[in-house]
Amino acid sequence: MSRYLSARFADLEAYVPGEQPQDMQYVKLNTNESPFPPAPAVLEAVNAAEINRLNLYPDPEGKALRQALAERYGVEVENIFLANGSDELLNFFFMAFCDEDKPVAFPAVSYGFYPVYANLYRLPYSEIPLREDFRLEPSDYCGIGKNIVIANPNAPTGRVISISEIEDIVRSNPDHVVMIDEAYIDFGGESCLPLVGKYENLLVCQTFSKFRSLAGGRLGFAIGSPALIEDLDKMKYSTNSYNINRLTMAAAIATIKNDEYYAANSRRIQENRAYTVEELGKLGFETLPSKANFIFTRCPKVDGGTLYQALKAKGVLVRHWDKAVIADWCRVTIGSREQMDVFLEKVREILGEVG
Ligand SMILES: *Cc1c(COP(=O)(O)O)cnc(C)c1O
Repeated sequence: MSRYLSARFADLEAYVPGEQPQDMQYVKLNTNESPFPPAPAVLEAVNAAEINRLNLYPDPEGKALRQALAERYGVEVENIFLANGSDELLNFFFMAFCDEDKPVAFPAVSYGFYPVYANLYRLPYSEIPLREDFRLEPSDYCGIGKNIVIANPNAPTGRVISISEIEDIVRSNPDHVVMIDEAYIDFGGESCLPLVGKYENLLVCQTFSKFRSLAGGRLGFAIGSPALIEDLDKMKYSTNSYNINRLTMAAAIATIKNDEYYAANSRRIQENRAYTVEELGKLGFETLPSKANFIFTRCPKVDGGTLYQALKAKGVLVRHWDKAVIADWCRVTIGSREQMDVFLEKVREILGEVG
């Protein structure tokens, strides 16, 4: 820290992303990326002609992409907001809707970025503990009179709540915004998008980073009432009007037009998930029920930190957090069948070594 940093940020603890080793020597199961490349049409869309236009700013309104998303999800262009990754969307949510008088609540075990933004804006916030087996109890959020962020499926647990449970939360907090972070919704969960037309205070957040194999392109989007989208726009135009670059815009439009390719990839991930859970079960692992492209699992013989280290030494990266309630557990991204077989083989080796 330099002596010039504002005192406001002296105690700020920044988010720590999962390791991104640049040497590609690892089987990378630590940041929930897709193991599959973008659809071939994406390669054609990000072409020389598009690169030749990089001297020009992109459309600040992102009209063509918002139109494509609106058609895909059966909503209007006015219902859609684009962000540079859903992390930026979260930033705008905290910036726009939360303050001293409008505190925010989220689950105590959830996406690690939520408390970072709350601290960045010095917001009063509550972390509502999960129940037994990391289950989120919807009634804990009903009528609490706070803004709310819930990841569904939750991270890093992979557990889901139902649309009707989400509806209870949204309906009972009419004076506050409820943001449902659906980063992992396309791996077997049920999206709450059908509720958007019914509730002005619901914001659904999705990303191109996981299901749509575009983590490197940085694109997230929100679907919500035109009033909420207008508020987010105000934040965007006060921060960075051109937040989505041309190449990502072109890639994303091609992505949406190739839904079948991505749906097939998701089916493979779900098959590999079932396979991995079953194989781990044979080794005595306990795994939470997951509707995401990752699993949260606990080894009977070694704690999470030891397993993480031992796997890393054998060239497999998974995610582990040094936090008491989840210290026993590791989050493992579901990759290709080949990647999962390497992972399982290394796990068997480690169990053999500890005896
Ligand atoms: C990965 C993830 C995000 C961030 O996604 P980007 O669009 O890559 O910024 C947001 N929320 C949750 C729960 C995530 O797991």
